Amino acid sequence: MKEGLSNIQPQTDVALIWDKCLAIIKDNVPYQTFRTWFEPISPVSFENDILTIQVPSQFFYEWLEEHFVELLGKTIRRVIGKNAGLNYRIKMNSAPNPATMNLAGNIQQKAPKSSFVDMPLKVDNPRDIVNPFVIPGVKRLQIDAQLNVKSTFDSFVEGECNRLPRNAGLHIAQKPGLTAFNPLMVFGGTGCGKTHLLHAIGNEIKRTSPNKTVLYVSAEKFVNQFMDHSKNNLINDFIHFYQLIDVLLMDDIHLFVNATKSQEAFFAIFNHLHQSGKQIVLTSDTAPNKLDGLNERLITRFRWGLTTEIFSPDYETRKKILQMMMKNEGLEVPDEVVEYIAYNIQENLRDLEGAIVSLFAHATLNQKEIDLELAKQIVKNYVKTSSKELSIGDIQKMVCEFFNIPYDDLLTSSRKQNLVEARQIVMYLSKQFTNSTLKAIGNHFSGKDHTTVIHSCQKVENLLEVDEDYKEKFLEIQHKVKLSSI
Ligand code: ADP
Ligand code: MG
Repeated sequence: MKEGLSNIQPQTDVALIWDKCLAIIKDNVPYQTFRTWFEPISPVSFENDILTIQVPSQFFYEWLEEHFVELLGKTIRRVIGKNAGLNYRIKMNSAPNPATMNLAGNIQQKAPKSSFVDMPLKVDNPRDIVNPFVIPGVKRLQIDAQLNVKSTFDSFVEGECNRLPRNAGLHIAQKPGLTAFNPLMVFGGTGCGKTHLLHAIGNEIKRTSPNKTVLYVSAEKFVNQFMDHSKNNLINDFIHFYQLIDVLLMDDIHLFVNATKSQEAFFAIFNHLHQSGKQIVLTSDTAPNKLDGLNERLITRFRWGLTTEIFSPDYETRKKILQMMMKNEGLEVPDEVVEYIAYNIQENLRDLEGAIVSLFAHATLNQKEIDLELAKQIVKNYVKTSSKELSIGDIQKMVCEFFNIPYDDLLTSSRKQNLVEARQIVMYLSKQFTNSTLKAIGNHFSGKDHTTVIHSCQKVENLLEVDEDYKEKFLEIQHKVKLSSI
């Protein structure tokens, strides 16, 4: 930087100001650089010490920010004074719905005539953007995606419980930012696979579009980072960093609840990314509209894309996941053990994983054979009720789940065929797998007497002899009841 320019007085004529800036810049960069990166800029306005310049594209703006932010900052402060600020206006060629926004997240979406997006950036402390994940000065393409490389779509078993979110995830991974699923919001309970799915989307995008800047972050980490930056007056940098991301994978947004300031920052980031056609994927443990303490404006934004629930894994999915986990661990396990574990550990896939690790430890460290006995011991540590005796109520619930019948309907005296058959099967299995008397079994169906129970069991046996489809279904549910009675 040349000496003696600090005496230049602030100017109000924007063209003149920019000419003075260019004169300084020209002296400080090679001629080619000047032609490529500074000549295409045109000055737009100058108000309240803020100089607005127009740049040809988002990429151009990012390049300037990465490579010349310090030079630009020093230059405009020399020309304008120490409170100088710089505002970029980006010419949007392909933006379908151009809008302007500022860092407070206020959008004026109603002005589609001018094809520009304003990117306010006050260069009062010019330096490269701070990367809240690592160290100051990190460049855009070096942003680590924070992905777990093992959590891919290949290792994400598809089942009824996750079919829609999984396929939506795969779809956006193929065309990030270009589908109607933006944002994609996946909600569901603990251990259902939300985090795995986020990583799978990230890994898939990294595989197919390595140039995309992908970032996985939990809302908790985001809030902590925000607080750190806010303490150090670096909120602009913080927001700016996130605005550089092409694919933002934000986990557990329920942890945003009541973190109002962080929500505001996220709102600004969300708006910017969404308007620039960048992909956003979010997860939450609750449906977003049920999250008390989440800003209404954010909830409205989430509705722009697809909100879908991921359910607790069903038995078949749990079985497949277990088989895959066992295979990965190199464990040879009899089918009945896999089925027993899959049947008894129901809610949370993390427990399923824990059970495999224990099984593995016992098998290798204690050199024990993996059999049903060992599985039972291990499962006991995860499921409190597994040792309790199977009840008629348990069988009723299992049969209802199996035939997809509402529990209350089973208890009515409706003569619908599917309900009649389900009741008969419950009675039969209760006789087989519980110590209950016929009278007790009848009592579980609004006081039916023991002859009805005998008649029902007889019906089941007759059908088993003549109806192959019926037999197949019966054996399947019988097998399940047997597993949970062990
Ligand atoms: P959440 O984020 O919903 O609490 P996670 O994604 O952390 O759940 O899943 C818990 C564990 O179960 C992880 O180890 C994950 O890899 C595994 N998991 C979840 N869903 C699946 C699936 N569909 N296929 C294979 N593994 C899964
Ligand atoms: Mg999670």
